[in-house]
Amino acid sequence: MKVRAVYPGSFDPITNGHIYIAERAAAIFDEVIVSVLINERKNASFSVEERCEMARESLKHVSNIKIDSFNGLLVDYVKQKEAGVIIRGLRAMSDFEYEFQMALMNRQLAPEIETFFIVTDPKYSYVSSSSVREIFHFGGTVRDVVPSVVFEKLTSRR
Ligand code: ADP
Repeated sequence: MKVRAVYPGSFDPITNGHIYIAERAAAIFDEVIVSVLINERKNASFSVEERCEMARESLKHVSNIKIDSFNGLLVDYVKQKEAGVIIRGLRAMSDFEYEFQMALMNRQLAPEIETFFIVTDPKYSYVSSSSVREIFHFGGTVRDVVPSVVFEKLTSRR
């Protein structure tokens, strides 16, 4: 039986930390769908299309990863995709509380779906999309923590 997993997130933009989690998930599951959340609040830095495009480009070397987007309830989307697993990444204890609460809430909504946590590489433990946006905004270099397509996109906005 093939096991399909969904890795949901804002990916605004995708970072090397996200790539690391997606690659490790793809080594375990038959298919991984990296799915960009269509934010209801319009405060995202990149459009859904841009976020998908950057994810697609930076993960094209992994044949069993697909890129998609979704809105609404995550568990409904996971069921619609006939997936059985939700992938989430853990950086530090600070992630844990929120992730644990969300995993329990999703289990309450859909007990048949498993949340699967993958621990980050220590070198990405401090990397977040928001810190990338902020560091770039103030002129710092993010070249080492984002895929080149994201770096180019950010640079083209300067
Ligand atoms: P969300 O808005 O849903 O938290 P993010 O795009 O920020 O979406 O993150 C998606 C998932 O990837 C979350 O589980 C988050 O903890 C994880 N993640 C984010 N950055 C990293 C990183 N540097 N290393 C490992 N996991 C990460």
